[in-house]
Amino acid sequence: MQKQLLYALLFTFSLAFTHAQKPKTPASSEIYQAIQKLNFLGSVLYVAAHPDDENTRLIAYMSNHVKARTAYLSLTRGDGGQNLIGPEISELLGVIRTQELLAARGVDGGEQRFTRANDFGYSKHPDETLQIWNKDQVLSDVVLAIRQFKPDVIINRFDHRRAGETHGHHTSSALLSLEAFELASDKTAYPEQLNQTSLWQPNRLFYNTSWWRYGSQEAFDKLDKSNMLSIDIGTYYPLEGVSNNEMAALARSQHLSQGFGTLAQRGTQQEYIELLKGDTLSNKTGVFEGIDTSWNRVKGGKAVGNILNGVEKNFNFKNPAAHLPQLVEAYKWLQKVEDQHWKTQKTKELKDIIQMCAGLYLEASAETNWATQNDIVNLNIEVLNRSYYPMVLQSLNNARDLNIAKNITLKNNVKYDFKEVLKVESDAQPTTPYWLNTKGTLGMYQVDDANLIGLPETPRTYNIDFNLLIDNTPITFTKPIIQRYSKPDKGELYRPFEIIPEASAKITEKVIILNSDAQRDITVVVKAGRDNLEGDVEVCHPNDWSVFPKKQKVNIAHKGEEQTLVFTVIPPKNQSEGFISPIVHVGDAAYTKELIEINYEHIPFQTVLLPSESKIVRLDIKKRGENIGYIQGAGDVVPESLQQIGYNVRVITPDEINPETLSRFDAIVVGIRAYNTLEDLNFKQQQLFDFVENGGNMIVQYNTSHRLKVDALAPFDLKLSRDRVTDEHAEVRFLNPNHEVLNAPNKITTNDFEGWTQERGLYFPDSWSSEFTPVLSMNDQGETAKDGSLLIAKHGKGHYIYTGLSFFREFPAGVSGAYRLFANMLSLGKNDIKPNTKLND
Ligand SMILES: [Zn+2]
Repeated sequence: MQKQLLYALLFTFSLAFTHAQKPKTPASSEIYQAIQKLNFLGSVLYVAAHPDDENTRLIAYMSNHVKARTAYLSLTRGDGGQNLIGPEISELLGVIRTQELLAARGVDGGEQRFTRANDFGYSKHPDETLQIWNKDQVLSDVVLAIRQFKPDVIINRFDHRRAGETHGHHTSSALLSLEAFELASDKTAYPEQLNQTSLWQPNRLFYNTSWWRYGSQEAFDKLDKSNMLSIDIGTYYPLEGVSNNEMAALARSQHLSQGFGTLAQRGTQQEYIELLKGDTLSNKTGVFEGIDTSWNRVKGGKAVGNILNGVEKNFNFKNPAAHLPQLVEAYKWLQKVEDQHWKTQKTKELKDIIQMCAGLYLEASAETNWATQNDIVNLNIEVLNRSYYPMVLQSLNNARDLNIAKNITLKNNVKYDFKEVLKVESDAQPTTPYWLNTKGTLGMYQVDDANLIGLPETPRTYNIDFNLLIDNTPITFTKPIIQRYSKPDKGELYRPFEIIPEASAKITEKVIILNSDAQRDITVVVKAGRDNLEGDVEVCHPNDWSVFPKKQKVNIAHKGEEQTLVFTVIPPKNQSEGFISPIVHVGDAAYTKELIEINYEHIPFQTVLLPSESKIVRLDIKKRGENIGYIQGAGDVVPESLQQIGYNVRVITPDEINPETLSRFDAIVVGIRAYNTLEDLNFKQQQLFDFVENGGNMIVQYNTSHRLKVDALAPFDLKLSRDRVTDEHAEVRFLNPNHEVLNAPNKITTNDFEGWTQERGLYFPDSWSSEFTPVLSMNDQGETAKDGSLLIAKHGKGHYIYTGLSFFREFPAGVSGAYRLFANMLSLGKNDIKPNTKLND
């Protein structure tokens, strides 16, 4: 379903393409709107905690209707969320969600910023959040965002007065925004930032409220709204043929990894914002009331404004190029403006408009998307002036080694192609998300270069400056080098041009579980970033483990090819765990990173370098049953994990479910959120329950009650709730210590709940019929006991098990206790236990 949705989005709306590196070639209606925006000197910063928190209706409205420069400051990149479109979790999911935010802003016209805060998972209170985050660092990043973006207006998505009632990250975003509102203009606060930016005092701070804040529409209707502004965000944009709320839905639908593909809404619709700080609104004319948003607010801006307002007023939709003389004149005046902030921002906008009006096409395409240090890369550079306005291409250069004089007069619609050669420097740094370069903490990314803090992505290293003389005025347009290529079944495609290391390596399994002391072969895959790679590979390991051979030769003829090497791991006699990591030695250089590619159609291709390591676990585990059918839901690596401990796992789709197929399995395991994502599963429930009655075991992992696509989740009554235990160290109490699941074939003790990661579990049922036996009890600090994490019901000859425990997180982290407990769940009813045997010895 996700895939269809994704294709529908990509092929129906050309807007969504604009971010994926393809150069914009806007129509005159879009140029006109860019000029309107150029003539509006005001800005709005929207603040929340996660990708998908942002209210795209309001962002689209501020950017497209009010014409304000609008940005979304998301404190985190959403690493802690769940991925509905693929296997990436944690930091790799953060990379995807960063790009989805950029894609959303590509639709609603906003900009995107971040802090160094890491989404470490659900947090129930801001006190906890601000302890796990480094509060001072995150606050400093919010202050930096305000000082750099210089918003007149800040709008918080969340209410700072609701600590403990919503996600702690949410309330924290509001609290920090409130604090930063004052600090941004205080020269004693974070004075080191003043080397790169200047003080700023925003004019107003709002909270984007709604009726649901007050429980019901009726309660909200009765409220005194004298301190609120209401905004009709359903406004229609005839120049674009869409209304603001339609555009907002399209922006929101970019969050595909969250499953936020959504229906468009149309028609009048009210949003409410409550004034928290700053100048009162006596006339309620809008968020910018009393703020001069014309060119007059900039010293020396009047001359620029006079020209540009004239262009806006008499815009020539049939021939935007007719405005080039005025635009170039305005550009000259703008260069005389002293205020650096406005000069930089408006120069950028004006240059884009000049380029659009001239139909100026500038592109530098490399023959490859990946190069290594010292590579020689052929570039194809295209320059095309589609106006009659006089222009000279003076030269092409990049900040590094390329500098080629051209002095060519660009005739109307005559394409100039240049073949140039780029030499990649010997010290060129590999391309990777900057916030993942150095290992951070649970709550914070470590960013070593202060200039990168807040940026959505790593700035491109290789750009081409197109130095033009437009009517005798020198103007430089800078474009990142890209790779333009085509595929017969996709058409024209664009990829970023990136630097990769000459060698990278990975161990194919991220977690290697050995359930005896027998040795196991592991495969190391070495990838060549260049031709003729020769070197040695070794595998580092903990002291009580051994790996043979010590070293192996690697020899790869062509760039991009891989070589697979087999090493043998010998575990210690007793339960033990640690990490192994491959190192590739090439000459004097040692390469320790793994190269990860993230390739989805709704976002640009991403290359991520992470330390290459795999967890090894020598596990003491017994199991019953052999064959497992797995129904994949939102996507998890549970099938691979169960294979590791010796099960035969077959992934089955809903239409494969029939009595004949089911009869081949000892157990059926349902993947996370399967009942939220698989429409057809509803029609297969009875067959699954029959399978249980006939002696099979069925394990259902967590689902959410929201968007549940099934009538009966279980053969007996079961009600899902939002109960969760987020503290991965929370005490686990055994409600039924004699239950088979805690005793056979593995004796489960509290030790098995040590070393868990991120959380205990989520969306536990809070009521269930008497057929169910609750087995475990747990809770976060200061909360009542939650007993619904593991519920087992005997049904006929088999067992139905519902569990919100986060096995999908614990397995990839190699948590041995999670494996032992899951093996017991699969083994239920298959243990050789006589009735009435006392199990707790
Ligand atoms: Zn959120």
